Amino acid sequence: MTTPRKALIIGCGIAGPVMALFLQQVGIEAEIYEAQPTGMDEAGAFLNLAPNGVNVLKALEIDHLLEADGFHSEGMDFFNGDGKQLAQLESSDEEQRFGSRNVMIKRGQLHQVLRNEAIRRNIPVHFGKKLTGIQLHGFQHVTARFEDGSEAEGNFLIGCDGIHSRTRQLIFPNAPQPTYTGMVDCGGFAQLPSGLSTSGAMQMIFGKKAFFGYIAKPDGEVYWFSNVAWPKEPKRNELNAISADEWRQRLLHNHSSDPAHLLEIIESTPGEIGKWPVYDMPSLPTWHKGLVCLIGDAAHATSPHSGQGASMALEDAAVLAQCLRDSLKVEHAFAKFENLRKERVEKIVRQARRTGNGKMVSNPVAVWFRDLVLPFFIKQGAKASEEVLSYKVEWEREVA
Ligand SMILES: Cc1cc2nc3c(=O)[nH]c(=O)nc-3n(C[C@H](O)[C@H](O)[C@H](O)COP(=O)(O)OP(=O)(O)OC[C@H]3O[C@@H](n4cnc5c(N)ncnc54)[C@H](O)[C@@H]3O)c2cc1C
Repeated sequence: MTTPRKALIIGCGIAGPVMALFLQQVGIEAEIYEAQPTGMDEAGAFLNLAPNGVNVLKALEIDHLLEADGFHSEGMDFFNGDGKQLAQLESSDEEQRFGSRNVMIKRGQLHQVLRNEAIRRNIPVHFGKKLTGIQLHGFQHVTARFEDGSEAEGNFLIGCDGIHSRTRQLIFPNAPQPTYTGMVDCGGFAQLPSGLSTSGAMQMIFGKKAFFGYIAKPDGEVYWFSNVAWPKEPKRNELNAISADEWRQRLLHNHSSDPAHLLEIIESTPGEIGKWPVYDMPSLPTWHKGLVCLIGDAAHATSPHSGQGASMALEDAAVLAQCLRDSLKVEHAFAKFENLRKERVEKIVRQARRTGNGKMVSNPVAVWFRDLVLPFFIKQGAKASEEVLSYKVEWEREVA
């Protein structure tokens, strides 16, 4: 590569800072522009970062930074709404099988770790920079415009601005919109009810009216979520208008016929319970145009049921940096990147949607049948996920 290149990175969530860190490794300067006025360290509940995602951070030698806040899940135990165990998955041998173990971590903590590392490595992060416009100047320069009236110029731009990406809307005004999946995810943090022991595994309960998942950290803090059927897409601020108390009562009602400890967890959760309508992205015809490329949720958001969205965003960052390192032209790098990634990520998006639909069964005959076949499907699913989890970015390798 002869000419120095500068990347404008839109969004400092998960993909953004990691994209900038990989670009720095291949000698490309990057600056990050984030819409929020400061780091959104309280935003969202928690994530399970899968071994393939942790392996990407390993390639940057920053996986150890998750140790202070994160912990490992030992597996998953599945139950029905009567408390009967349906299946069990072990994950304590992930290190041997995949090279890394999963990490459960609060979203805000993950954001903070990644952002601070970018700042520590002298990557400029500009807050309060909401992208509102993009202007392409042939195949040499791109200008980003922000809501505050400021502008930035670079040789190319990477949209890491999440599922409702403004970058995507600007370069592909006719692109398909995120699809609402008919479900609201909610959750929070509580203390483990007294007398309840835990195996260190994620507890997944197909409740009578809603799905519930929780895991206890070794210090006794419980990370939990519930998937609530909400057929009509909530209007902007509709969920925020529901008070914490009212939402708590709804959840208690939803889980009233499920094992009692779920109610204890909900009741003992202090303050607000986060609520997020669940979307995923239909396949986009392409992820790039001219000097602009989309990665992470901006290109291919999956619903949370896969536990892979963050890992896909991290893999994207590593692969795109390799493509930029190995291609003379930015447009060729973008095309190669899309080619290497699209099939893998879109398969995961489709699978996650099927998993989500399976959580919403309530008809008694369907529930009986689900309980019967679930052990088999969980085993099959675990086998199929080997391919997803064992993926490793060969960071030193030349991309063919
Ligand atoms: C409830 C829920 C639970 C989930 N659980 C998991 C899980 O367990 N495991 C997992 O792997 N994934 C999970 N996911 C998915 C995961 O959160 C996403 O896949 C991941 O955050 C994608 O990273 P990203 O960087 O592409 O986007 P984001 O993390 O959404 O980051 C986008 C950033 O861009 C900024 N931005 C937006 N618009 C603009 C603009 N106009 N200008 C500048 N900046 C802008 C945003 O403020 C944000 O900081 C979950 C998602 C949800 C909703």
